[in-house]
Parts: sequence; C-alpha cells; structure tokens
Amino acid sequence: MSARPGVVYLVGAGPGDPALITVRALELIETADVVLHDRLIPPGVLDAARSDAELIDVGKRPGAEGIAQGEIEELMIERARAGRSVVRLKGGDPFTFGRGGEEAEALADADVPFEVVPGVTAGVAAPAYAGIPVTHRDEASAVAFVTGHEDPEKEESAIDWEALAAFPGTLVVYMGVKRLPEIADRLVAAGRSPDEPAAAVERGTMSDQRTVSAPLGELAAAADEAGLRPPAIVVVGPVAARRDAIGWLQRRPLHGRRVVVTRARAQASGLARTLAALGADVVELPAIRVEPRIDADEVRRAVDDIYSYALVCLTSANGVQLLFEAMAAVGRDARALSNATVAAIGPGTAAALREHGVIADVVPEESVAEALVEALEGTEVEGRPVLVARAAEAREVLPDALRERGAEVDVVALYETIAERPDADAIEAAQEADYVTFTSSSTVRNFLTAVGDRFPHGARVVSIGAITSAAARDAGLEVHAEAERHDIDGLVEALLADASRNE
Ligand code: SAH
Repeated sequence: MSARPGVVYLVGAGPGDPALITVRALELIETADVVLHDRLIPPGVLDAARSDAELIDVGKRPGAEGIAQGEIEELMIERARAGRSVVRLKGGDPFTFGRGGEEAEALADADVPFEVVPGVTAGVAAPAYAGIPVTHRDEASAVAFVTGHEDPEKEESAIDWEALAAFPGTLVVYMGVKRLPEIADRLVAAGRSPDEPAAAVERGTMSDQRTVSAPLGELAAAADEAGLRPPAIVVVGPVAARRDAIGWLQRRPLHGRRVVVTRARAQASGLARTLAALGADVVELPAIRVEPRIDADEVRRAVDDIYSYALVCLTSANGVQLLFEAMAAVGRDARALSNATVAAIGPGTAAALREHGVIADVVPEESVAEALVEALEGTEVEGRPVLVARAAEAREVLPDALRERGAEVDVVALYETIAERPDADAIEAAQEADYVTFTSSSTVRNFLTAVGDRFPHGARVVSIGAITSAAARDAGLEVHAEAERHDIDGLVEALLADASRNE
C-alpha cells in the first residue's frame, strides 16, 4: 500500500450529448489511472482516457445483474488505497439519483480523499432539448425532482403523492416511463388535473432524442403507443406546453438528417462537429487513414536540403503538418523556409501554414492543382529547385506543369492514404443515411470498396469539388451537390443548400 491514497472523483458525465460534459470532468478523465463508469455515459468520452488507464464498466444492463453497489465501493476504495487516481463516472449529475451520496459516504468512512464534480442532470437537460424550461416566470416558480422507481424492498411508498400533486410547480420524474400509468393515475387521484400539460423525453440530448407530449391523463397511452423506453424524463406542468413555442432542436437546418462522413478519422472531427451543430445525425465511417511517411529517405533528404528550394508547394493541411513534423525531427522550424516562395493549394492549406508561422506567398482561391499552376504563373521557376510535398497518390498536374516551365522538381510523398477497415455498426447506420459526403477522390474510392454492395443508394451525394465529383461519377454515383468553395465550409454550405431545396 502506498503512503498516500489516490483521490476518488465522483464525476458527472452529463445527460448524453458528449458536448455537455464539463471541462473539469474531461480534464479528470484525461489524467485518471482508473475510470469506473456506468453504462449510460456519452459516446466517446472514454476515448479521452489515457491509453494505459484501467477502464471498468460497472453499469447495470437492463434485465441483467450489474456489479453490486458494495462491490463498486470496494473497487474504488481498493484502487485509491493503491495510490491510483480514480474517476467514478456517472450519467448526468452524480448526486442526482445516481447513488453518488452513498459512494461519497463509503469513501468518507474509509478515509479515502474524494471530490465531487457535478454534471448536467437529465432532468433539466432533456426538457431543455425538448424546448421545455423547467421553471418559468409566469408558470412555474418551483420544480421538484422525483424518482418514479422506488426501492422495491420498501414496504410503503416513500413518495407522498398527495403532497406532490399539490406541489405548486413543475414535476420532473426520473426513471418513470415503465410506471408511467401508475404515476399519472396517482397524481390525478390526488388532485392534479388530467388536462395539465405533460411530456416524456426519451434519450434526451442524444442524436435520437424523442419527445411525446400529451395532457397528463393521456400521456401514458401516448408514450406506450410511441413505444417510448428508458431512459426518459417525464415532465408535468404548464411549462410542458411551451414546447410548441420554444422547441428549437427541430428547427436546426439539418434536424432529422443522417449524414455520413467518410473523411479520415483524424480530420473528420471538424466536419462532424459542424454537421452535428446544425442538427445532423452524423455517422462517421472513415474510408481512409493517413499514414505518415516522414521517416522515408526521400523526405529526410528533402528536409535536409530544404534551404535550397526556391519554391515549396504544399497541397494539403496534412502535408503541412507532416512537413513541419519532419523538419522538427531534425531541429528545424519555419525559418528553414525563409528563402523560398511558399505556395499553398488553397485556403485550408494556407491556414495550416499560418499555424506554423508561415504566410503563404501564393494561394489560389480554388483548391485544385490547375488553379495553383495558374497562380504560379508569375513565379520564376526556370532552372530552379522546386519541392512539391504532398500525398503519395496524387495527380501529376502540378509537377508536370512546373517541369514544363523548366523547374527542377522534387516530388516528395509525406503520407499515404490507406483504406480504413469499416465498422459494421457504422455501415448499418449508414443504410438509412440522407447524405454521404466526400472530401477527396480517395474517400470515394475507398468508401466504395469498404461498403461494397451496401452503398446507401437512397442517400444524396455531396462532394467537395469537381475532381472528387468526377471520381464519384466514374464510380457510377450520381453527385447531387458540389461545393463551390473546395473546403469543409464550402461542403457544408452545399449540403445545407441541397437540404433546404429538398425539405
Ligand atoms: N444521475 C443521472 C440520473 C440517473 S437515474 C442524472 O443526473 O441525470 C437514471 C434516470 O435518469 C433514467 O431512468 C432517466 O429517467 C434519466 N435519464 C438519464 N439520462 C437521460 C437522458 N439522456 N434522457 C432522458 N432521461 C435520462
């Protein structure tokens, strides 16, 4: 046993939307030695954990026995006493129907240091995403959080239904869908009006959130008809009727549209985040992965000689990132490019250069090789050494044109794009897609290879530009929208325009 026990953090992970986790929670997950987590935690948050962290799923599965509460407490105490930092990660807020109170007591009894990190609780967040404010200046000055699932061993109901029915404010019921008929009956029997507005929000804040609204007396039947299942929050009160005016989720421009992102995972997050923020249900199905080649001899040679080039051309943000990595590996930085004219194929590549302190001298508006060739017309290259640093498989338009103008061109492949193994669940989810997005010819080719005969033919195809569109057409696909600006923002704009034309 180490002299100093590790700290246990009782951490709320938020209600489901991975963006609703707190900064503190994420920070602790990133550094924890051990993460003990429930089953209902937002997708992807465990990706933030260290690769050598011990991740233990202590969640209960529906219909199956989970790890007993006592065992969870023992695990936390035992790991902490071994000197390890432990994150006990729970859905929503740890002290709101999460047994966090009991766990804190067990830790206090065991003299293990602990901290509590509150989370966004489902009882507030699910209604908010459904357009229901739990309090309202005119309609609800109080709100009560209620459990609809009592300890089955209790002889008598711990819930005073008479008092709850008389409660002057909004009732927010956790764990209540299964017993919704009894709950509604009891409230009405105790004097709450059957005509009072009510709603049930299933999987609140997640991409497949569903809401059923009905007067209290009819909510159980409506929820049953819709097949509503846990997890869900039930809201009773006049505020539930505000949904018509406030419901904002369904007003987002891509609400209800499923969009497949085929970009390499390392680059996809920006596109996926932008689409999700517009309301899309994003399926990430990366068709390719970027495999750096910065240890290759040709790259080493080019980096060693980088001072000698009169012109350095970069054709992607990936290329910029990797060139600077290759330079850093031999102790070089942006100053090594001070003699050269630096050309970027488009605004995205120029932005990546700027992050490394280099303002590109030549940037065409359109991100295609032909445009860069044109933009380089005023640059003297005859008899001069030129470096084209790019992906292994690329068109020869740029090097050919430069050679024709008498340049001594070195073409160096900083990376290869490799087909990614497709995820079966993602392919399944993609079947119902409304859109498939392609950001390069290689995503088109590799995506088609990955999905084989399971291409979602009902989906509309959006491409980042003419070259990608041509690759899609060559592969027998119809292209429904093409970006005017050949970057991610341009792609999103094209998709939005197509979606609004096809409401
Ligand atoms: N500590 C959690 C609640 C745990 S109890 C919190 O603060 O949110 C589990 C119950 O929470 C579920 O039965 C359901 O009623 C509610 N719940 C959790 N996540 C939910 C979600 N995304 N949407 C709707 N209800 C949710």
